[in-house]
Amino acid sequence: MTDTHDNPNLLPPEEHVLSTLEHDGSRRWLYPKLSKGPYLFWRRVVAWALIAIFTVLPFIKINGQPAILLDILRREFHIFGVTFLPTDTFLLALLLLSCFLGIFMVTALFGRVWCGWGCPQTVYMEFVFRPIERFFDGRAGLGGKPGKPPAAWRTFAKYVVFYAICLHLTHVFLAYFVGVEQLFQWSLGSPLNHPIAFIFIFAVSAALMFHACVFREQLCIVACPYGRMQSVLLDDSSMIISYDESRGEPRGKLGKKKRQALQEKSKPETERSVGLDILQLHGDCIDCGECVATCPTGIDIRQGLQLECVGCAQCIDACDTIMNKIGRPKGLIRYTSQQALDGKAGRILRPRVFVYAALLTVVFAAFLFALTNRSMADVTPIREKGRPFVVLESGDILNQMRLKIVNRDRVPHTYTVEASEPAGVMLSMQGGSPTLEPGETKSVSIDLRAPFEMFTTGRLDVRLIVRDDEQTVAEEVFQMKGPFTRHNAEEQNEPANTERTPQS
Ligand code: SF4
Ligand code: SF4
Repeated sequence: MTDTHDNPNLLPPEEHVLSTLEHDGSRRWLYPKLSKGPYLFWRRVVAWALIAIFTVLPFIKINGQPAILLDILRREFHIFGVTFLPTDTFLLALLLLSCFLGIFMVTALFGRVWCGWGCPQTVYMEFVFRPIERFFDGRAGLGGKPGKPPAAWRTFAKYVVFYAICLHLTHVFLAYFVGVEQLFQWSLGSPLNHPIAFIFIFAVSAALMFHACVFREQLCIVACPYGRMQSVLLDDSSMIISYDESRGEPRGKLGKKKRQALQEKSKPETERSVGLDILQLHGDCIDCGECVATCPTGIDIRQGLQLECVGCAQCIDACDTIMNKIGRPKGLIRYTSQQALDGKAGRILRPRVFVYAALLTVVFAAFLFALTNRSMADVTPIREKGRPFVVLESGDILNQMRLKIVNRDRVPHTYTVEASEPAGVMLSMQGGSPTLEPGETKSVSIDLRAPFEMFTTGRLDVRLIVRDDEQTVAEEVFQMKGPFTRHNAEEQNEPANTERTPQS
């Protein structure tokens, strides 16, 4: 890559814009060095656990349904044994709000721990794609700008493996929406039999491939909305990864004298063989550049907290290794807070944490209450189109309506409907009591009939009770319409053949 820094035809930029921009505005490709250490070990454990969970979740069944199935076509979401139907929008909104508040609270307490440890971008980029790249690129992939490009066959093989992984990821992702059985059936058939799914697989795997090969850290740096919100979600007490300037500065390269002085520093004064004067001129940072070389977003943590820092802790492992080598205590770069760096006592419990915790408790409690108290059936009364009422020859008023019933239970049920109040209203269900399979929806036509005398100014509120085989599942009030006066009723009297005989 051409170094544009010395190009006399270009003016130097007035300020640093992005860690991945060259001076002429072109992309600076990053080849982060792998720094081994305890944080890398534990991040690897977490990453593989998350990958395993993501891959097996669609295969796990709870109450006969996949652990997570977002069936958009049938408008049913199954989440860990709970089924959400279109009528559960409020419940889903509460659940989503709880998730957002949880993220806000975790960010206020632990900073960008999600970005560095749990985000799919970090997990797959750092623990799947980059290790594969290092494997195929050989030494060129071990960190720093490669001296010479890897052989063409290596690059080709790398992209083949990348695409196989992207295809796998896309299939697992699709399984969350259609279920593994359906996906398996589709996989055995011709793409022409299910073109939409085929186009989806092709488009998403291509997008993933673009991300794995080209876009990479740009997602964190320029695209992710969560990253952009850090300035409002964090405060001085939030956990961040930071360089201890008071200990590290003034930085200076490690010469022979400084190395000796650093090694002697931990010994008692009487046992030292060299003076420590040189250390008054230099802090612990030996300006080795390891923390910059290992950073997957290409920043220098020594310049302070930056938007591009995803909290991956690679610079901690890199710097601790250096500190070990030069005999200085670890932690020049560490998990800390701005308050602690300024020498003030950090506070975990602060107003914003209380507010998030209180809101989260209220919203999640409301979600649990609504979830545990929701009925095993959804019942919606709907007035039939056309004339609101019919006056029968007998003088009674007939209203026609429909009752939409959704069986939310995991077993079939037969539903009965009764007009409980006021006494004297007769109800007949066309086609008898319906039986609904789990998750099934049916509309049943119902005739309601009541004497004119029961109406007040043309209205009569009727309480409908819906029962499944065992219990009352819903109570609804339906307002019957009728004529205002008996004179109106006589005028609108219907011929005998319109009269229907209620059954119950
Ligand atoms: S500065 Fe450190 S923690 Fe932040 S992204 Fe770079 S290596 Fe990771
Ligand atoms: S790794 Fe540590 S010693 Fe080396 S440059 Fe970074 S902060 Fe300084």
